[in-house]
Amino acid sequence: MVSPTENTPTLAHQPPVLAKPWVVPRSLYVHVPFCAKQCGYCDFAIAVGRTDRIDTYLDAVRAELARLVPGGENEPMPMDTWFVGGGTPSLLSAEQLRRLGRELAARTPLVAGGEASLEANPESFDDEKARALSEAGFNRVSLGVQAFEPGTLAALERPHDASLVARAVTAGRGAGLSVSLDLIFGAPGQTVRSWREDLRRAMELGPDHLSLYGLTYERGTPLEKKVRGGLVLPLAEELERELYDIAMTTLEAGGYKQYEISNFAKPGFESRHNRAYWANLAHFGVGMGAAGLVAGERTLNTRDLDRYLRLALAGEETAFQRERLDPLEVAKETLMMNLRRVEGMVASEFFDRTGLSLDSVFGGGADALVEQGLLARDNQGLRLTREGRFVADAVIVKLLAGAPATVEGAYPEGAA
Ligand code: SF4
Repeated sequence: MVSPTENTPTLAHQPPVLAKPWVVPRSLYVHVPFCAKQCGYCDFAIAVGRTDRIDTYLDAVRAELARLVPGGENEPMPMDTWFVGGGTPSLLSAEQLRRLGRELAARTPLVAGGEASLEANPESFDDEKARALSEAGFNRVSLGVQAFEPGTLAALERPHDASLVARAVTAGRGAGLSVSLDLIFGAPGQTVRSWREDLRRAMELGPDHLSLYGLTYERGTPLEKKVRGGLVLPLAEELERELYDIAMTTLEAGGYKQYEISNFAKPGFESRHNRAYWANLAHFGVGMGAAGLVAGERTLNTRDLDRYLRLALAGEETAFQRERLDPLEVAKETLMMNLRRVEGMVASEFFDRTGLSLDSVFGGGADALVEQGLLARDNQGLRLTREGRFVADAVIVKLLAGAPATVEGAYPEGAA
């Protein structure tokens, strides 16, 4: 737990070129929690039916940024990436989107050539909002499509129909934004035929980037309760595996290169924000429920909207959890996140990030997994094989279990 009087580290004075990227953030995540209704599978930090609080929320985001970057607007901290996620950030009006851009730019301006993404839902993203987004300094929109097939959309309890997706993609393109689409596989009732059709329709729209997520039944969500009550039948594991296999083959054949377990992109359109995250680099997390990593300390903001607004507007600590990881935990996290990338954990990057040798920490645990064909090991480092991507979580658990109880020679986390 965090004491409200605890101070957030002051970083604004550090010249960014000299600072280590896992100490001083070069990426900013802002959470916008508002949603029109809860989708059946959702366990994100959301606030339903509270859009009357959006203007106050933007005041709170400004106040939280002012606390995190205390040097003021004369001493801003430049960012390589912004990512505004939700929730449904596209519930903001065009004017509110422009204001959001101004608030972020005041303390954490995007560098020239930086990447700025915002998540949008098809039913609340049109030409006017796309233009506003571009004027606000954003250059990428990530659309929560999830499915085109009406049966899958209904199973997920999504509020849009497929006709709105094309409108949203056209709007984004028209405003000069790079477009990414999110899809979900493994939804109840989904079939090989319906999934192939979803992939075909997504690719037909020609997005620059696609994220595919396997459906998970998080405890307490409406969908998980239906499963427990016997009202909904989850897909068989083998079918889910087949859907993922189809996706990897279909998208690669369509010119989308897989660069992470769930992410595919045309050349040059990989998400830089997510890359920084998977490399376990520092990032600010602003807004209700947002997670940050600054100077070796993880923070998690309160998930209660009214509490967040009250604390942020008063200039007080918004995190309810603060955690400084020990060197072994940092090593484990770094491996866990980097292994999600197709290039895996590069040994030299692991050393740069932690001060440790990859082999000395995880080499023992890797032997059996390499033998089973789930991991590949070469001079560069460790990576999941194609087969390993199907069981990535289990592979990571085994690798972590093979690590020693303590490590020597790691970098001190908070040191720039
Ligand atoms: S739109 Fe996204 S954040 Fe909102 S309820 Fe649906 S899944 Fe959750």
